[in-house]
Amino acid sequence: MIRRRRTILTDAAAAIPESTAAHGARVNLLGLPRAELEAFCAALGHRTYRARQLMHWLYKRGCGDFAQMTDLARGFRAELAERAEVALPHILSEQQAADGTRKWLLSGGSGQAFEMVYIPEPDRGTLCISSQVGCALDCAFCSTAQQGFNRNLSAAEIVGQVWLANRELGFVAGAERIISNVVLMGMGEPLANYRNVLPAMRILLDDLGFDLSRRRVTLSTSGLVPQIYRLAEDINVALAVSLHAPDDALRNELVPINRRHPIAELLDACWHYIDEQNGRSVTIEYVMLDGVNDSPVQARALARLLAGHPAKVNLIPFNPFPGTGFRRSSEQAIRSFRDELIRGGVIATVRRTRGEDIDAACGQLVGRVSDRTVVRLGSKMAAAQHRPGAGRGVASAVGPGEGAHR
Ligand code: SAH
Repeated sequence: MIRRRRTILTDAAAAIPESTAAHGARVNLLGLPRAELEAFCAALGHRTYRARQLMHWLYKRGCGDFAQMTDLARGFRAELAERAEVALPHILSEQQAADGTRKWLLSGGSGQAFEMVYIPEPDRGTLCISSQVGCALDCAFCSTAQQGFNRNLSAAEIVGQVWLANRELGFVAGAERIISNVVLMGMGEPLANYRNVLPAMRILLDDLGFDLSRRRVTLSTSGLVPQIYRLAEDINVALAVSLHAPDDALRNELVPINRRHPIAELLDACWHYIDEQNGRSVTIEYVMLDGVNDSPVQARALARLLAGHPAKVNLIPFNPFPGTGFRRSSEQAIRSFRDELIRGGVIATVRRTRGEDIDAACGQLVGRVSDRTVVRLGSKMAAAQHRPGAGRGVASAVGPGEGAHR
């Protein structure tokens, strides 16, 4: 049974999603996708077109101040001021790299911080956003994993990153967009925070929201298989999967969630997603680790897994961080690996590393995680393997309450 998110809401309290419903707190409108915003307006006794007006102010004009929303009735504005808010994360600091990449450290309150990165390119502007403070997945080569996991970001904090970046980048209402692509490749495992990531992505795609093309919103996952099936029912975005190894023995070490959902199961879920959503292809991410996963034999094994399927491989040169034992593969090894994949019938490209001098590249985002519950999936999985009924306890680490299974 797939548990469905409730979208028909009947009263104001129900219109407040869990993530924004601190006791007696105002509803943060930023996190509400259109259906929930309409329900919120209806619960206050207003027609649903008010929600569309609100979205226009919020996302088309970048205005979060009810007083300035002059086409809303004065009474409605007063009610909004009382019942609602537009709350954004705070910017703690900003850094700019030599190549123009910009990274912001954002505060999510209570000492927690997370990062977002803007990567300008001649033909597009990509914003890389975070979905969690820290991460529980414990991938061996990722610096976010070293932080442990603290908490999920709310839908408002996820959407708020795009809102803030637009503001900081000088977006002007009606002008050409600056952020053309959004990738959920910052801190965290987006599918472990499904309940907040889904509404946030709905707002990214909504033509009254950020109005991004579905091919330009990319969700990257380390391979939470049940949630990929759930995603296939819920939303059409570009899917990227962190494979990083062509066989289970190696992937178990690099990406511990593989011990729960091995490669064959993961790839089946990917093909299902593409079928179900009429997608073009899944992006298979593969970090290039010197002497670990970068041999021609491994390239051929990877090609055999993927040839004939709707997949393209994106090779990511490893980005080092303090204390890591891994090294980046040589340029020669990366080129040979790519050529071997192409010979094996698989489309493959190499991701250009951006923002390295400010630690803004893939896997280098660390934010600031204090008071963390150090949940490290690798060690949990190892411990669980020695117990009967192995692995069940890990669910709480990778997605509290996200128990959709097939
Ligand atoms: N949790 C999501 C998003 C992670 S970041 C996921 O696992 O897909 C996006 C990509 O960067 C992932 O493929 C991730 O495995 C990769 N990555 C992590 N650490 C890296 C590093 N140090 N160097 C290069 N890529 C890295």
